Amino acid sequence: MSRTSIIGFPRIGENRELKFATEKYFKKEISENELQIVASNIRKQNWHLQKKADIEFIPSNDFSFYDQMLDTAIMLNVVPKRYKELNLNVLDTYFAMARGYQGENGDVKALSMKKWFNTNYHYLVPEFDKTIKIQLNTTKIFDELCEATLQNIQTKPVIIGPFTFLKLATFKDGVKSQDFYEDLIKVYSLLLEKLSARNVNWVQLDEPSLVCDLTKEDIELFKHLYQSILIRKEKTHVLLQTYFGDVRDSYQDIIQLNFDGFGLDFVEGKETINLLNQFDFPKTKILFAGVINGKNIWRNNYQKTLDLLRNLPNCFEVIINSSCSLQHVPLTVKAETKLADSVKQHLSFAIEKLIEIREIKDLLNHFHAKTFEKNQALFKFPRTKANTKVSEQIKELTKAEFNRQPSRKQRREIQTKELNLPLLPTTTIGSFPQTAEVRKQRFAYKKERISKKNYAAFIKEQINKWIIWQESIGIDVLVHGEFERNDMVEYFGENLNGYIFTKNAWVQSYGNRFVKPPIVWNDVSRKQAITVTWTSYAQSLSEKYIKGMLTGPVTILNWSFPREDISLKEQAYQIALAIREEVLDLESAGISIIQIDEAALREKLPLRKSDWQSEYLDWAVKAFCLVHSQVSPKTQIHTHMCYSEFEEIIPTIDLLDADVISFEASRSDLSILSKLRESNFETLVGPGVYDIHSPRIPSVKEIEEAIEKILTYLPAKQVWINPDCGLKTRGILETKASLKNIVQATQAIRKQLT
Ligand code: GLN
Ligand code: ZN
Repeated sequence: MSRTSIIGFPRIGENRELKFATEKYFKKEISENELQIVASNIRKQNWHLQKKADIEFIPSNDFSFYDQMLDTAIMLNVVPKRYKELNLNVLDTYFAMARGYQGENGDVKALSMKKWFNTNYHYLVPEFDKTIKIQLNTTKIFDELCEATLQNIQTKPVIIGPFTFLKLATFKDGVKSQDFYEDLIKVYSLLLEKLSARNVNWVQLDEPSLVCDLTKEDIELFKHLYQSILIRKEKTHVLLQTYFGDVRDSYQDIIQLNFDGFGLDFVEGKETINLLNQFDFPKTKILFAGVINGKNIWRNNYQKTLDLLRNLPNCFEVIINSSCSLQHVPLTVKAETKLADSVKQHLSFAIEKLIEIREIKDLLNHFHAKTFEKNQALFKFPRTKANTKVSEQIKELTKAEFNRQPSRKQRREIQTKELNLPLLPTTTIGSFPQTAEVRKQRFAYKKERISKKNYAAFIKEQINKWIIWQESIGIDVLVHGEFERNDMVEYFGENLNGYIFTKNAWVQSYGNRFVKPPIVWNDVSRKQAITVTWTSYAQSLSEKYIKGMLTGPVTILNWSFPREDISLKEQAYQIALAIREEVLDLESAGISIIQIDEAALREKLPLRKSDWQSEYLDWAVKAFCLVHSQVSPKTQIHTHMCYSEFEEIIPTIDLLDADVISFEASRSDLSILSKLRESNFETLVGPGVYDIHSPRIPSVKEIEEAIEKILTYLPAKQVWINPDCGLKTRGILETKASLKNIVQATQAIRKQLT
């Protein structure tokens, strides 16, 4: 007999209740108590849904107000001094760490934020300074346990394990990871003891860092931590849960440890099955088999899954599990009332995945022909008719189409003369605040409550206002503001054949930010010119350069739910050809600077170095080059990347052959700069000097310092000055104040230089 489990569940609520309540709390429109009630209702709903679907290992403590790493930091008392000194209550300290704080009690920046492995979810980077004393500092886990028990639901608390916590943390003031091993062991042991005392049957310790490339020392550390933590085994069973890949470096070591169950990923873990076949699975332990894809939204092919499960080496028990937390997929297909049934039958979001897990269990335990045949019918025929024109075009691509001429150095000379920009040119990343009014108008237009003409007039008014404002404060390269765009991927998707869209399929990106990735349904091609009208309009208003603004093919693909029936490379090339048409149209319309955002390029970099080139970078770089290789040497191509650690792929970023790149740097202490210098980075760079993911306004002095720091690493001629990302999530007041400070700081530094 098999049982069923999931690793975690979306905590957003059916109608994004958590987001809206949190935002109200930030604006002091509701009390903490009211916020807690919303959260509690979401948790209860989630548990009941899972129970109804017959999930037997239901997670608790997978809920979070902002981020599970931040929760873990709080649990372990890893609260840096600057936040303690604010003297705020527990919840507000938590939010200060997440978003920064500017108010009566002080002025501090948020913790650094990074992408969670190869997902578009962002976690807050725990920061150890010398004031940190690790202690068990939580009621959350126990409160949620109790809350579930009161609902008559037994849960499996989920906790990020000490190894992953340490691997993802940063260490300041000379403190080191090893200074904390012993205290961490104590705290996790105590935690297990306390869970045992509460009769918890299973606890899930998440250790996704095990799927990355590990050194011998890493494995030793893992063993050291867990040998000690698991020494005095209590009643509670401990599940070591991994996801986002396989544990090839440590499998033989970890199965020796005193865990009761191992959660392995069979979806992204290419080697998982081989590891089991080669080294066997301990006979007395339970295998949690991650077979339902927690990241993509397509129905599972039961035949394949059953084959896999039936061919596993003999185990004591196999539990049917998701491959990772379901927080990376939307809540339910049921909310998609606009999609045809013929489409919906192919989709599976979190709630549908619960049912798939149960059905697989039933099929495994005893055969249900009807369920099985209904599932298999989905895979008998192609979903739609292919667009052979596109695939032909891709087959015929020539080398020259991936190779921009002349060389970047030569182009730089031409562009310097042609564009005649000041030293340290200032610009922004593209979007300006999407106010309630902007969203309201777009919504009304979508619902056909206002005419196309009135909507266009409204957008033009916005563009006009902001062009005048940008000129007035002295920004050098202007943008039109992206007011017509709901989202940098969805907007393009809407203008491409082959894409379909959802109404309510939100996925958490960070904290209270959610994205609604479109779905690649069929071969992609451009329907019509997408951005040319707005960009040309903006350019007609100013003597200064307006930067055209496009989303690049890799980002469009990475922020969509991709197809599984053709390769990612093929899909990226299809999108690249569509965006190439747009680049050439903008150029013909007289736009001399074009930014092709690759915000998400780093995101899908395989977790293992050996896969970087062959599985990803080779085609990702080519897809980007395909987009811009045909433009004139005079046209300056920019790109932009956000939140990520791309230090390791700096040479690859140069290969994109853009003329200028802007990127996030302000939250990561500009550490990327020395790497740029070391690798003789050629592309001009705009390291962000203002953290736009926080409502805090940076002072002129702060920005001057940031610029000065940049200039100690890079020659002024190579540097652009800009915020670290688009401003659409910010309010108008803070945006204007911050940008004014940026321009003022830049002008002051320029004076010193000339
Ligand atoms: N041009 C986009 C904007 O400014 C870039 C956003 C992003 O990098 N995520 O909103
Ligand atoms: Zn960005």
